[in-house]
Amino acid sequence: MKNRPFILKGKISVKSEDYYIIGRLVKNDNTDNKSNYIQIIDKEHIDLYEDGYLGYIFIDWIPAYDLDNINYATDITNVETLINNDVIEMIDDTYIRVLYRDDSGDNFIQVTNQCNSNCIMCPDSDQVRNNHYVPDINKIRKQIRCIPDDTENICITGGEPGILKYGLVDVVRECKECLPETNFLLLSNGRIFSDINFSNEFVKNAPSKIQIAIPIYADNAILHDSITRAEGSFEEAVMGIKNLLQRNIEIEIRIVVLKQNYKYLSNIATFIAKELKNVKFVNIMALEMSGNAFKNKDNVWVNFDEVKSYLFDPVLTLLKAGIQTSLYNFPLCKIDNRLYSIAKKSISDYKVRFKDECMECKAKDYCGGFFFSTINMKEIKVNPIK
Ligand code: SF4
Repeated sequence: MKNRPFILKGKISVKSEDYYIIGRLVKNDNTDNKSNYIQIIDKEHIDLYEDGYLGYIFIDWIPAYDLDNINYATDITNVETLINNDVIEMIDDTYIRVLYRDDSGDNFIQVTNQCNSNCIMCPDSDQVRNNHYVPDINKIRKQIRCIPDDTENICITGGEPGILKYGLVDVVRECKECLPETNFLLLSNGRIFSDINFSNEFVKNAPSKIQIAIPIYADNAILHDSITRAEGSFEEAVMGIKNLLQRNIEIEIRIVVLKQNYKYLSNIATFIAKELKNVKFVNIMALEMSGNAFKNKDNVWVNFDEVKSYLFDPVLTLLKAGIQTSLYNFPLCKIDNRLYSIAKKSISDYKVRFKDECMECKAKDYCGGFFFSTINMKEIKVNPIK
């Protein structure tokens, strides 16, 4: 089921001192290890109600006893969208937050909103990134412990996860212990990995199947740092990538394309092919126009049609250097058809949108579409493929 809501409201009563619980759902059924599970149970299955669960969600009924001693929720809107093995957080008197969707390939663990850079095209807003909420490592670890161990892919993201410093080591250690078969993608600006002691500790504790995606926006510090608005960020990111490569961590470089750098994509590709040649992947990415990117749209937005002629050469440079190269967030009708095979359906299921005209396009099933935040940029016109 696509586009399931992440926040569900209703009556929520949590007795724990922390005012929240995190658990995995078992729906109209029972399970062992009840202390990690929240039982969700409708009127037709009242007879399955059992003591001992971490919490309960009651649909269309409520037990006549016990309520002072249990964590529970009733009258939850969209409750039918919750499914078995989802992981949720129930916050007292507030809402239910869906942390893991068992039917999605786009699950993520957001470890912080904060960041030590301030990119002009960040899809988060200044307000979100500069809040002073201190990430709760124990809460993140509880979330990881509830995720089913057969889950294929998890993205660890922020903000900047490196803000957690050695707390990030605790997070990846938990991932390694609880989800040894899962593929992890860590999204980071890479700066924390310029610290060799940190890199050593991280690598020692990270799960074996981890890839780190780090953005490089230019082939020089002046342009890169003007985009991140963080002096020294280019030197630190490049140093971080080199440290990780020396420690055999798989690296993906992300080049976000914006007004400031689209004419220099070939220079960036040449820099990567020469200086960072052991990276495994490079993804050239179109903008997501939310948060800072939307606020600064006059400064950062460049239409797909203008970028089109600047993509082929850098892709060729990277491919010739043996680096697997892809285009992310570029709709097919907005790129050179020689690049169709490397254009990925990269936009998360809950963020992707198509124009009305796309319905008549023969390529729609293969096209990654647009971010919901980008589709209404006024210059965008699609050219359905007949
Ligand atoms: S018309 Fe729509 S579906 Fe077709 S390639 Fe363009 S964006 Fe994709």
